Amino acid sequence: MTKYIFITGGVVSGLGKGIAAASLGLILKSRGLKVVNQKFDPYLNIDPGTMNPIQHGEVFVTDDGAETDLDLGHYERFTDATLSQSSNTTAGRVYLSVLNNEREGKYHGGTVQVIPNVTEEIKRRMLLSTQETGADVIITEIGGTAGDIESLPFIECIRELKYELGEENCCYIHLTLVPFMKKANEIKTKPTQHSVKELQQLGIQPNILMLRTEIEIPEATKEKLALFCNVDTDCVIQNLNAKSIYEVPLNMEKEGLGNAVCKILGITGRETHLEKWAEMVHVFENPKHHVKIALVGKYVELHDAYLSVVESLIHAGIANESEVEIDWVDSEKITDDASAKEKLAGADGIIVPGGFGSRGIEGMILTAKYARTNKVPYMGICLGMQILVIEYARNVLGWTDANSTEINPDTTHPVIDLMPDQNGKILGGTLRLGKFECAVTPGTLTEKAYGSTTIWERHRHRYEFNNKYRDELKKAGLIIAGVNPERDLVEVCEVPDHPWMVAGQFHPEFKSRPDKAGPLFRDFITASLKNKI
Ligand code: GLN
Repeated sequence: MTKYIFITGGVVSGLGKGIAAASLGLILKSRGLKVVNQKFDPYLNIDPGTMNPIQHGEVFVTDDGAETDLDLGHYERFTDATLSQSSNTTAGRVYLSVLNNEREGKYHGGTVQVIPNVTEEIKRRMLLSTQETGADVIITEIGGTAGDIESLPFIECIRELKYELGEENCCYIHLTLVPFMKKANEIKTKPTQHSVKELQQLGIQPNILMLRTEIEIPEATKEKLALFCNVDTDCVIQNLNAKSIYEVPLNMEKEGLGNAVCKILGITGRETHLEKWAEMVHVFENPKHHVKIALVGKYVELHDAYLSVVESLIHAGIANESEVEIDWVDSEKITDDASAKEKLAGADGIIVPGGFGSRGIEGMILTAKYARTNKVPYMGICLGMQILVIEYARNVLGWTDANSTEINPDTTHPVIDLMPDQNGKILGGTLRLGKFECAVTPGTLTEKAYGSTTIWERHRHRYEFNNKYRDELKKAGLIIAGVNPERDLVEVCEVPDHPWMVAGQFHPEFKSRPDKAGPLFRDFITASLKNKI
């Protein structure tokens, strides 16, 4: 029988519910259980694909092309799972199904209501992963905060599911904030008590309280919370601010999270094994080297907009026993060669990640020029590859107005252009999404990095390298290091006579893991360390 864990949040948002869910996934996986994490978001967008990254953070992409919440990235990185379309559901997607059913007459003339029609659809989706994966444990994170109007149907569903699936198969975890009042030198439990009351009113009695805190919570306080919230004392788990997110599973296991969950779900005879993970965290926290990477982009005011890129740089640092310091550079601030030099001179390596729209593009092109002419290691991701190609076309071939038609539809040299099957009219879900094969050219830096001539990486873009200009760019030296065999699309470009200037049309950041850094990130950091010496 599959076991179900539901994680809700209370008091405030942004407590790291995603990290907590991912950490629990890792703990249970290390006990030999097959674990799947999933997230239910109460907002009305069908998926986060059309949301502004500055507002919502990065859009994480799965192998099968789902555009999802960034918490799925945490799940994959912690549990090394490959998640799918069914791993992230929004209220918008639920309502869309219900309304389509209504139009198709599937409710046979009945009145369509939140309860039971919307809740049935949510519950159906909550159980989909069980059917698809046959997991031992499904961890479901409910987005938002308990008491939000929009999350009510989701809370009602997890209440009903406990009734339907059996008490012994369900565990509710509630994550709250225990604030520390500096002046009074006191930690406060009242917000947690109120939040639990809120849940109780909705029919949910949490089994485990997870308390986000900046100082150690005394035993007496845990006992008090256990008493007031009807929870066993060993089920009050402190979630102390950690040095890094990768420490969180270690800390929470020390607090007894694995045992508490297994006790509630009747899972016996299993021990947590986080030794390898602990070794990785040790390497991460005791680096031998230091490297400074300029991340040049247009969404730099919200670092979460580049979350997986940042994590991948950390993984690449671990693989190189190096601390990676990120210098966040707003590409709009680079307006000529002089400002490029001023902003980038201190960097050992430069990365230009993905992005959409025309703002800040010229600054990125100047960045690629700086990296190419000063032989500074450069890694381009998606838009970062398109930028590399535009810069090469402009400054090596002399096509001064070369551009992507996304930026300048009237350019005389559209080196990056729409594919004929992209009409660009419907924005949601119409990008080239998910994993595609790439045949890697032997003898390239890309082949060296992957140690293979066939790779699969995930994509999220609309525009492509324009094959009309491929021969001329190649003649001028540009190395085509990877091509999608099915459609002959250029996937990776490298610049010759340069220590390491490599860019892919795909997003290698989605498959990087803390103990298995994405190969391009790893070699980019190696090259940047060499550049420093
Ligand atoms: N805007 C570009 C495109 O749609 C690049 C996308 C990206 O960087 N993810 O092709």
